[in-house]
Amino acid sequence: MAYIVPKLTDFSPAALDAAVQQLLSALNQESSAIASENDWKAYRDRWMARKNGVLTQLNDLWLKAAPGPNKKDVGQRVNELKGKVEQTVEDTLAHLMSDAASYRLAAERLDVTLPGIRRTIGAEHPVIKTMNEMIGVFRNLGFSVEEGPEVETDFYNFEALNFPPNHPARDTQDTLFIAGQSEKPLRDRLLLRTHTSPVQIRTMQKMKPPVRVVCPGKVHRNDAPDATHSPIFHQIEGLAVDTNITFCDLKGTLDHAMKAMFGSNVKTRFYPSFFPFTEPSADVQISCIFCDGKGTRDGGPCRNCKASGWIELLGCGMVDPNVYGFVDYDASKYSGFAFGMGVERIAILKYGVDDIQLFFNGDIRFLEQFS
Ligand SMILES: [Zn+2]
Repeated sequence: MAYIVPKLTDFSPAALDAAVQQLLSALNQESSAIASENDWKAYRDRWMARKNGVLTQLNDLWLKAAPGPNKKDVGQRVNELKGKVEQTVEDTLAHLMSDAASYRLAAERLDVTLPGIRRTIGAEHPVIKTMNEMIGVFRNLGFSVEEGPEVETDFYNFEALNFPPNHPARDTQDTLFIAGQSEKPLRDRLLLRTHTSPVQIRTMQKMKPPVRVVCPGKVHRNDAPDATHSPIFHQIEGLAVDTNITFCDLKGTLDHAMKAMFGSNVKTRFYPSFFPFTEPSADVQISCIFCDGKGTRDGGPCRNCKASGWIELLGCGMVDPNVYGFVDYDASKYSGFAFGMGVERIAILKYGVDDIQLFFNGDIRFLEQFS
């Protein structure tokens, strides 16, 4: 829409003022309605285009048409008006740009009160959590943590732990052997460790008594998976060797550890057992945490302890002097104890889990309960 400049017939100062005022208010009104750069370009052309812009029209319709005596007066006003038009058009653009900048800022503004993007945080797996709790108990007793390889040699897994070649005790371990080892001497053949006990030997080889270590880690057995068996599980091994360590130290240490894990009311019971690398050896039972050792629950026999009031939890014993022979310890000078426990077994009791496979299936619905 091209603004049409009125033709003047009256060139008196009052009539000129009124006409100028009318144009100025149109100029300002249009300026305030501009919302985009395209709007502004049309606005600039409407007022300032060389061909038929308002300023050009003023030249033709006012200045050239003015009678001689009024020419100076009209020229002065047209000049003033020209200055105002140019200034207003320029200001309008500046205003538009600063508005655009603040719109952009507004769009980019970060609202710190909006809720953030929630990322799910992982949690300790119940087996790792149980393992760390157990390690914490022994760490408080002055034990440090040692680790060893999961692929072991026959020497560390069996021979140095006093399992002689072809000894029937080896058969109880359901070992997974690494293939293609038959060319090597028996003690160098590789296998997946069946217990964390090899770390005892590795520790004693590299440090002299006093030794107080716990050795957590994965172990492997050739067992078909079912509710109570898994071909992979975790153990924590413990070893203390020093002068004058007795079976009383072993009993006191494990009694304390079981109370720390399961509550101060828990009782422990030791009864004779056999392991090649300890002598004497014992199995440790704790009083049933489900029936408080009574053997009955809810008016019937307790399922968890098969009504005995006791649950078997771990194996232990005094380090067999033969073992010291493999690590150059003086068996006449030092004595010590060792123990080993299954981490899943403890987690099953602690959390009331009824199937060991749940720990390895990776089902998030099961695992979330422990986070
Ligand atoms: Zn019970």
